Amino acid sequence: MAKKSPPQIFGVLGFPAKHSLSPKMHNAAFKALGMNARYRIFEIEPSKLKPFLATLEKRGIHGLNVTIPYKQTVMSYIKRTTPEARIIGAVNTIKVSRNKLYGCNTDGEGFLKHLKTDLGFDPRAKTISILGAGGASRAVCVSLSNASPKRIVIFNRDRSKTIDLMHILNMNGVCTDLVAANSLSDPRLFEADLLINTTSVGMKESDPSLVDKRNLHPGMLVYDLVYTRKHTRLMEDAAEKGCRIANGLGMLLYQGMLSFKIWTGRMPPKKVMEKALGLQP
Ligand code: NAP
Repeated sequence: MAKKSPPQIFGVLGFPAKHSLSPKMHNAAFKALGMNARYRIFEIEPSKLKPFLATLEKRGIHGLNVTIPYKQTVMSYIKRTTPEARIIGAVNTIKVSRNKLYGCNTDGEGFLKHLKTDLGFDPRAKTISILGAGGASRAVCVSLSNASPKRIVIFNRDRSKTIDLMHILNMNGVCTDLVAANSLSDPRLFEADLLINTTSVGMKESDPSLVDKRNLHPGMLVYDLVYTRKHTRLMEDAAEKGCRIANGLGMLLYQGMLSFKIWTGRMPPKKVMEKALGLQP
């Protein structure tokens, strides 16, 4: 009897990474498509990152997602990256082919797909406020700015990161009005059609909301990138004030679908992945 070939290995690289929901959705998709492939967690400590990346092919690894804290670090080990990943300055997807690594970033496109397809929100000519200017914010802002909003207002605790992000967006040639908010009570933040929390505040159950509830108003879509909890405090407040709300699970789904396509050339079954993430009954 012919020996079955070993499965193609994919996975998520991070430190820590045990909390990741990605194995659930990717393994469900591999199974549904009848593919001989497995998705694993690679929790690699910083001192072992370089040798790990140098031996991906040997380990049978065909593709990786990259999460905290390596999205920026891995760029120095990857020769070929997409223009979008270079603009964002971070990679969340690595494809391994003929012992070479290719770096991409699907976070921003994943966010935009969820926003447009599932939430029916077209950013064109809209006013958008962003809390945070870390890696996720950069990905989201670059994609949003390509979708021609009227104005993007950004607040970050460390103001130098807001200025850096605005510089990136300007370099990307946006025709959008860019504003750096002075504080979390800057009224310009709350003139928005869409308010997005890209900070990590909300990941823990005890986390407060960064926003004074009185500033939220019906007609606003409040999107929290946090996906570890169904409702963050910000989302609870927003729902109470009559806003539409979304957590980060939809973005996780779409960025994962885009990564899957990059690795395998095949579109994964959306419904199967949604179910694995608990997005479908
Ligand atoms: P990051 O690069 O480390 O950025 C963290 C951001 O949070 C920074 O803007 C930081 O502000 C801000 N922050 C942290 N603690 C704060 C506090 N107490 N008050 C105010 N601001 C605070 O992390 P990241 O990769 O961007 O991830 C951020 C969040 O997005 C995480 O919850 C992550 O899980 C989520 N995310 C979701 C998806 C998805 O698919 N749904 C994808 C990627 C990321 P300073 O610069 O001032 O420190």
